[in-house]
Amino acid sequence: MVSLKTSEEIELMRRANLIVAEVLQELKALIHPGVSTASLDEKAEEIIRGRGATPAFKGYGGFPASICVSINDEVVHGIPSRKKVLEEGDIVGIDCGTCLEGYFGDAAVTLAVGDISDDAARLMKETKASLDAAIDKVRVGNRLSDISNAVQSHVEAKGYSVVRNFVGHGIGKSLHEEPQIPNYGSSGRGIRLKAGMVFAIEPMINIGKSEVSVLDDGWTAVTNDGSLSAHFEHSVAVTENGPYILSQI
Ligand code: MG
Ligand code: MG
Repeated sequence: MVSLKTSEEIELMRRANLIVAEVLQELKALIHPGVSTASLDEKAEEIIRGRGATPAFKGYGGFPASICVSINDEVVHGIPSRKKVLEEGDIVGIDCGTCLEGYFGDAAVTLAVGDISDDAARLMKETKASLDAAIDKVRVGNRLSDISNAVQSHVEAKGYSVVRNFVGHGIGKSLHEEPQIPNYGSSGRGIRLKAGMVFAIEPMINIGKSEVSVLDDGWTAVTNDGSLSAHFEHSVAVTENGPYILSQI
């Protein structure tokens, strides 16, 4: 069952998501060679709690931190650590979730550490563009898989591959609600979108092949072929006036 949110609930989710957006913006300014991923996590938690919210990821399924930080061939769910230090040329995915007054926010960006290769920059640009194409499908009357297909068709035309083991999701009073939103599939399938639905849309895109594995830490997903991966995410409400990107400042 896909829940419909009232406009009051959507505004609460907007507040939760603006805290996520603020975290991502603040962390962007801290991304430099030599910075540990644990220090980014500490800053994120400080901002989230300072706004009266709680970090949604901390303790979720036992996850130990407030953000996921995933470097280079790490796809998603990287665990912040003092031992993991950013290096010039890395790309780093940061995923953040918050809960404010019982409503959740969730968004992610991939950022460059100093100067990065043209290949890495293009992967980031096209992954973000695939999210934008998907968001443009968040309209009353469209089908759920129109979102999925927008991601897949954008990135595969560029020669990239879609990670299939992880998906986007509904969001609201829980971090992960129905429906699941794969980043691949034919258009014109699945539920019809209605005003009040809210989705976290999150393409995870690899330069190389699509296959990924989870490391022994039980969380960090990496590409099997070692190729770079990028991840962007927004929480987006379906409204009569089109997509409302809750996690965009
Ligand atoms: Mg997320
Ligand atoms: Mg998510």
